[in-house]
Amino acid sequence: MADTIMGLLNPTIAAIFAAVFAALWMRDRSNRTALVFAFGYVGLAAGFLVFHFTPDPDAIGWTLFMHTIYSVSAGCVCWAAADRVGQEAKVSNLLVISIAAAALIVVGSFGTDMNARLIAANTAYGLMFALTTQTLGRTGERSAIDRTIYWLFAISAAQFFIRPQLAMIVSGPMSAEAYRESDFYAIWMLMMGVVSLLLALALMTATVLDQWRKESEAAEVDPLSRLKMRRSFESAAMDMLDQNIDRRVRICMIVADIDHFKRVNDIWGHQAGDDAIAAFGELIGSTVRGTDLCGRIGGEEFCILVYDCEESAAKGLADRIRRKFASQEHEALGPDIRLTVSFGVTEWRSGEGYGKLFARADAALYRAKSNGRDRVETADAELLENATPEQEQKTIKLARTAAG
Ligand code: GH3
Ligand code: MG
Ligand code: MG
Repeated sequence: MADTIMGLLNPTIAAIFAAVFAALWMRDRSNRTALVFAFGYVGLAAGFLVFHFTPDPDAIGWTLFMHTIYSVSAGCVCWAAADRVGQEAKVSNLLVISIAAAALIVVGSFGTDMNARLIAANTAYGLMFALTTQTLGRTGERSAIDRTIYWLFAISAAQFFIRPQLAMIVSGPMSAEAYRESDFYAIWMLMMGVVSLLLALALMTATVLDQWRKESEAAEVDPLSRLKMRRSFESAAMDMLDQNIDRRVRICMIVADIDHFKRVNDIWGHQAGDDAIAAFGELIGSTVRGTDLCGRIGGEEFCILVYDCEESAAKGLADRIRRKFASQEHEALGPDIRLTVSFGVTEWRSGEGYGKLFARADAALYRAKSNGRDRVETADAELLENATPEQEQKTIKLARTAAG
């Protein structure tokens, strides 16, 4: 009876995890990682059940059946863990490992010693987990939960490699029947259970956190331009400036405003205006680097915080966006009409707050509008107005260099 309860414990836990992952997938159907984790844990639950209750675990048919189930579920967990962090686990590698192990299991089944099969199967799972550990290690920036998963994969891999060796040392040659009855099996199952439990909990926590992050990010994104909304842009921009007070990374601000936008709405209708906003948002999003921040800060006003960039390069970036947009066709406006945008660019001065930086960039934008629109202006003049004599000299020098 106690045996049966113990035997049901692991499959029940695995089934609960499968259900949780399935529920997480139901919440967000685009999260294929959660679905594959669910499959992995369904497989694990089935494998545990089969192994504990099969009448003849020594039969080669049962052994191969269990190996197939365990391989598929280990493969699912490995693949999904890599997929979660944007890495690719090569399915072909996992398949080759599993098939090679199956062949060794068949060869091993000609003897009466269970250890040969045990070594073949466990080495295969160990290899799968070791490969995944290596893949997870390739991820650049890792959070605490990512690092926990990485180490649990490494421990699991080591456990699979050590397990059959230990079984051999502790119990000597034995049949699967005897192995299942041994104290070693009970202790080992408990240890494996604890590590697998921790791994499953870590994967589940990571999946929940991923979904939560995705949802909160989506709530901050303007649905029309696909860029950050004003408030979240400003808060992220302030964070960027705060973090760089002592780092001396150069940061520039670009503000952009679509020219004569009222006319677009008046002549072609609000939907045409919306389409133009969406097109400009897409252009900005696809032009800047991942480290830059972009937001729609007003109706047809946009702001970019360009990271690690000096003013002349930011001006170049703004001009590239300007030219691209000015040459873009807009379906709703017909083939002959083009829209233009004016830009103001300025470089952040260390220690300066968001408000002052924005005011200077906005003043440059105002100048671009009054100088005829469809152009990029920098904030040199405004800079000189508020600058210390030292900054003034530097700015004049920079302006002379730029003028050649
Ligand atoms: P300027 O060249 O000086 O920038 O002229 P403008 O016509 O673009 O002037 P302004 O910035 O004052 O006009 C902005 C217009 O944008 C007014 C408003 O009706 C329109 N607008 C604001 N938000 C939206 C939106 O989400 N969709 C559409 N279609 N129009 C919007
Ligand atoms: Mg405007
Ligand atoms: Mg405008």
